[in-house]
Amino acid sequence: MVGRVHSIETMGTLEGPGIRFVVFLQGCPLRCLFCHNPDTWQVDAGTGMEVERLLEELDGYRSFIDASGGGITCTGGEPLLQAGFVAEFFERCRSLGIHTALDTSGYAELSDAVIRVLEHTDLVLLDIKHSHEKGHRKLTGVSFETIERFARYVDRSASDLWVRHVLIPGYTLEPQVLKATAAFIGSLGTVSRVDLLPYHELGKHKWEALGKRYPLAEIRPPDQNEVDRAYQVFLEARLPVHGS
Ligand code: SF4
Repeated sequence: MVGRVHSIETMGTLEGPGIRFVVFLQGCPLRCLFCHNPDTWQVDAGTGMEVERLLEELDGYRSFIDASGGGITCTGGEPLLQAGFVAEFFERCRSLGIHTALDTSGYAELSDAVIRVLEHTDLVLLDIKHSHEKGHRKLTGVSFETIERFARYVDRSASDLWVRHVLIPGYTLEPQVLKATAAFIGSLGTVSRVDLLPYHELGKHKWEALGKRYPLAEIRPPDQNEVDRAYQVFLEARLPVHGS
């Protein structure tokens, strides 16, 4: 099976435990206003790669990955757009004793291929963008309902679950929105880690390079007080929140 790959990062440290071989897959059905990878959106772009070729590239980094307690991570774009390919890749990695992580928006119907991916996933990194239907649509262009269904399914499955959430002034930082998001994450009983990520503007130049108008040009990154207040809300909800 051939997957459309945007790029590979061979020594990632942010997408799961230890050193990760990170595969960025092409294609995304969301249009997040803060997206720092808009160049992954197009489904038919990128490079066609077979699972065996990915495994050959990965092999050169096995000693670093194994020594660090790391593994491989599929991200994007939205990796579940290529669920059949990811399932095959994860199955092969598992058979080689390699830890598998899926970094996803959760915007995926629970098809046979998606369920097969989850059966071969050790860790799901779920990016919750917003917890209100209206706010979610405004920020991402798609419904939260599909994501909620996916999150509840993962919560019942055997995968470890980490949640990531971006703090964006004017979108996700209002107290009532933060409380609702914390309550939703808290309702997922198996979440073992929550990362709160202050919004940054590092993706802006990519929008400009693609000839697109950056939608959050007027939005500034949150200041330390705002970040601290968000942490407080999540801590009060007894969530396993990391960093500051
Ligand atoms: S899900 Fe990720 S890749 Fe897709 S638009 Fe949102 S931030 Fe960008």
